[in-house]
Amino acid sequence: MKRAAFARINLSNLKHNLAMIRELAGNSKVMVVVKANAYGHGMLEVCSCLTDVDAFAVAYVNEALALRGNGITQPIVALQGFRNPSDLELAIQHNVQVVIHHQEQLAILKSYADAPTLDVLLKCDTGMHRLGFSVEEFNDVLVEVKALLSAESSIRLMTHLACADDIANQFTSIQLQRFDQLVEGKKFQQSIANSAGILAWQESQRDWVRPGIILYGINPLYKQDIDSSIELRPVMSLHAPLISIKDCKKGEKVGYGGDFSCPSDMLIGIIAIGYADGYPRHLKTAPSVAIGAQKATVVGRVSMDMIAVDLTGIDTKVGEFVELWGELISVAEVAEHAETISYDLLCAAGNSAHKIYI
Ligand SMILES: *Cc1c(COP(=O)(O)O)cnc(C)c1O
Repeated sequence: MKRAAFARINLSNLKHNLAMIRELAGNSKVMVVVKANAYGHGMLEVCSCLTDVDAFAVAYVNEALALRGNGITQPIVALQGFRNPSDLELAIQHNVQVVIHHQEQLAILKSYADAPTLDVLLKCDTGMHRLGFSVEEFNDVLVEVKALLSAESSIRLMTHLACADDIANQFTSIQLQRFDQLVEGKKFQQSIANSAGILAWQESQRDWVRPGIILYGINPLYKQDIDSSIELRPVMSLHAPLISIKDCKKGEKVGYGGDFSCPSDMLIGIIAIGYADGYPRHLKTAPSVAIGAQKATVVGRVSMDMIAVDLTGIDTKVGEFVELWGELISVAEVAEHAETISYDLLCAAGNSAHKIYI
């Protein structure tokens, strides 16, 4: 069912961002992260548009299969690897590369009839404590994995950074040190950097980088200085129409619970977008929306299909479309008002709104 709100996905901005990443990452190969339906931008459309990548990365084997089924031929990595024998079988059949991060997966590999030809990334937990083998067990696991795979298989070593989006946080250096100790003297290719790593921790750019959010044009180092020559262009912009404009008198209340009380006579506009479209319901402070070059502040609670804005002094009319975020209002700024991160908003809105590709 088509709702009034829509997300415009600008594919030329997407290509620009990838070119930017290539510049930043020097000789590193680029594994473009398209999990969660490409952060809400549409996995297939994004992958079909980006021909110049070295690999795509998704979370699950079945996402990789969906790409294969739609004619995507580049290498694909499943970041969570296989969860059961049939997952493994499918990964082998469809040439999907997998992350191996847990003993359970070794047991599944052992139960496989012959040593499979499978390209793997062996993941070390250097301190995030999400996925990966501990530093202590890693060398043994590496020996075991080598023995379980056919000689044609390739093995790369990876880890993931927990705090790279905070330039002042020294934990990233600790993680890098732990990883370096572990891989010293080993000839395997390495992969560490996510978007924040690419931008802020050059020493984390190894053989492979794994950009996600910067591909979609968002700087993960919100409010921290990055090189001003790095120009990221937002790929998604979210739009919805004004469906009502009315006069409210000083002291009158707007929206559920009457939380907002007009401090003076006001012109209140209603926009056809709400939390059902992925617009955040929990706002700590009020974000703005863009109406052409003008900005209007959200007032009162966010409803399921509607929000209210203060249109006092703004020249507009019912039927005009406003931008909730994108080129004029940054999604990171809206996210801050909602005490969340841009990733969350892009996934939520992108995966529910109708998408238009330009
Ligand atoms: C999601 C993810 C990335 C991409 O992270 P961004 O912050 O969006 O760049 C990279 N590596 C792994 C393992 C991930 O799960």
